[in-house]
Formats: sequence, structure tokens, C-alpha cells
Amino acid sequence: MKIDDIKRIGVVGAGQMGSGIAQVAAASGWEVLLLDVTEAVLQTAMKKIREGFARAVEKRTLGPDQTIPALARLRTTGRLQDLAEVQLVIEAASEKSALKLDLFRQIGCLCKPETILASNTSSISITKLGAASGRPDRVVGIHFMNPAPVMKLVEVVRGVETSEETMALALGLVTRMGKTPVTCHDTPGFIVNRILIPMINEAAYLLQESQGGQDGGLTPDAIDLAMTAGANHPVGPLALADRIGLDTVLAICEVLHQDLGDPKFRPCPLLRKYVEAGRLGRKTGRGFYTYREA
Ligand code: NAD
Repeated sequence: MKIDDIKRIGVVGAGQMGSGIAQVAAASGWEVLLLDVTEAVLQTAMKKIREGFARAVEKRTLGPDQTIPALARLRTTGRLQDLAEVQLVIEAASEKSALKLDLFRQIGCLCKPETILASNTSSISITKLGAASGRPDRVVGIHFMNPAPVMKLVEVVRGVETSEETMALALGLVTRMGKTPVTCHDTPGFIVNRILIPMINEAAYLLQESQGGQDGGLTPDAIDLAMTAGANHPVGPLALADRIGLDTVLAICEVLHQDLGDPKFRPCPLLRKYVEAGRLGRKTGRGFYTYREA
């Protein structure tokens, strides 16, 4: 398959990443089929995409006359079978290994043999997803950063069996979307999260050691200020964790810990507690910080 053979892209999962990827793909000229398990999630995603296009017009990264055609290229569905009509799938469902393996098993059966299956996973093995799909040569990691419409970098991950043709197609696609690709080997966390997640985890340990910022201990603000003003990071690690989603941060940290077998990746118990309490960050209105709008 060549890049020009890709007319329609299926995006599985319409959360913060799936909606952003669908927006980028539609703005870049592809027909997009966005899939999630509930109609409510799909409606929220479409609202976010419309707002995203309006912001892009304000920033002049999208012409005002391009919004309506881009929106017209987007369709939503709740039926996995509808993916049979796409030439490329980008899976962006929740970061749960069993869920993704099951999705790749099903999508591998439903899609045409030549269809390319990509995952936006932050940490799960592309090689494993490839094996589950039954077409490992056509499975590749296409890992967008958050928010997908804004961030330039995309990690393109080569599984053990990923073919050269699939890699070339993924790199060409990402470039056509206006992104900067970096090729990665299939190692837990690839490049960005191998470095980023331990830093966030360490910040959570620091907060935990100071009693979660209570009794005059370190506050999330103080830790984030230290890293923005002291290390020149545009956003502090705890605010960034809230943006990523604490469930996703924990899931990535667990994969790093299990797959690399090094105790230095042990997830911070405070992070686990927050996830158990439903404090998932911005998406639920509360994480390390509290937000007025979820
Ligand atoms: P999210 O929680 O915002 O969205 C996940 C979506 O997947 C939800 O809408 C959920 O309903 C949907 N979903 C669950 N099971 C499904 C199924 N069987 N079929 C279809 N949809 C299903 O999560 P997110 O932050 O968008 O993360 C999605 C993926 O992107 C994860 O693999 C994550 O690691 C990766 N990622 C996240 C970030 C980030 O900063 N959050 C950055 C890069 C990559």
C-alpha cells in the first residue's frame, strides 16, 4: 500500500487523543471515521473538534474556508465492523494492555488484509499488538503527543515484524500531517515517556514524602514552579500529569516497571491512590490540582 491509497482513516477511541488525531487527519485532507463505545463520548469529541478548528482559524493555521470541508470529512460510529471500509486504523483507546490486545485481535479480523493498523499507545509493545492482529508486518506505533493538533513530535515505532513498507508509509503520513516524526524501537515508553514518566513519578514521590502538601509541606505548585522556573520546562510535572490523565500516567509507569524490571520505575503509591479515588486530572476535574471545568 502507498500513502496515496489511503483515502479514509479510522480512529478508535474518541477521548482527548483520539479526538485530536481525528482533527489533525481531517484537517490534512483525509476522510475520518471516529469510533468510541458511547454516543455521548462521540458528541463531546465532535464538540472539541469544532472548537479545535475554530482555534486553528484564530491562529491562522487553518483557513476559514477549510473548516466546513474538514468537518464534512468526519463521521462517527459505535460499530467496530465499520472499520472494514478504511485503509488505515489509528487506535487511541484507553491505555490498557488487555483492551488493546483484544481490539487488535478484532480489528485484524474485520479489516481488509492490506489495511495498516497503528496504535497511539504510550507504552504497550507494538510487537505484541502486531502478533494479536495476525498481520504484524502491517502494525506500527504512531504516537502523537498531547494535544495532538498542537504538538509537533510524533514517535513512529517499529515492532519486531513491522515491514519497511509500513514504516515508510507511517513516516510519510505523519509528515503529510505537518508533524515531525522520530523513528523509535519497540522499547517500553519509547523515547518521550521513558524519560518523562519517571520524572512525573519522582515529583509524585516528592509530594507524597511531604504529606501530599498538607501541614506546610511541599505543594504541587512549589514542585511545578521549581521545574518551570528552575529547569525552564514550559509546564511543571504535576500539572503535566493532570493534563495527560493520572490513569494513563499510572498505566505507563506500570508497563515501564513490569517490562523493564527495574525498581526505579515503581509507581508512586500516591499516584495509585488518586487514580483509585477517581482523581484522574483535568478530565475528571481533579488530580494534583482542582479544575473548574472537567
Ligand atoms: P482517554 O481516557 O481520554 O480516552 C480513551 C477513550 O477510549 C475513551 O473515550 C474510551 O471510551 C475509549 N475506549 C475504551 N475502550 C474502547 C473500545 N473498546 N473501543 C473504542 N473506544 C474505546 O485517553 P487518552 O488520553 O485519549 O489516551 C488514549 C491513548 O493515547 C492511550 O493509549 C494513551 O496512552 C495514548 N496517549 C495519551 C496521551 C496523553 O497525554 N493523554 C499522549 C499520547 C498518547
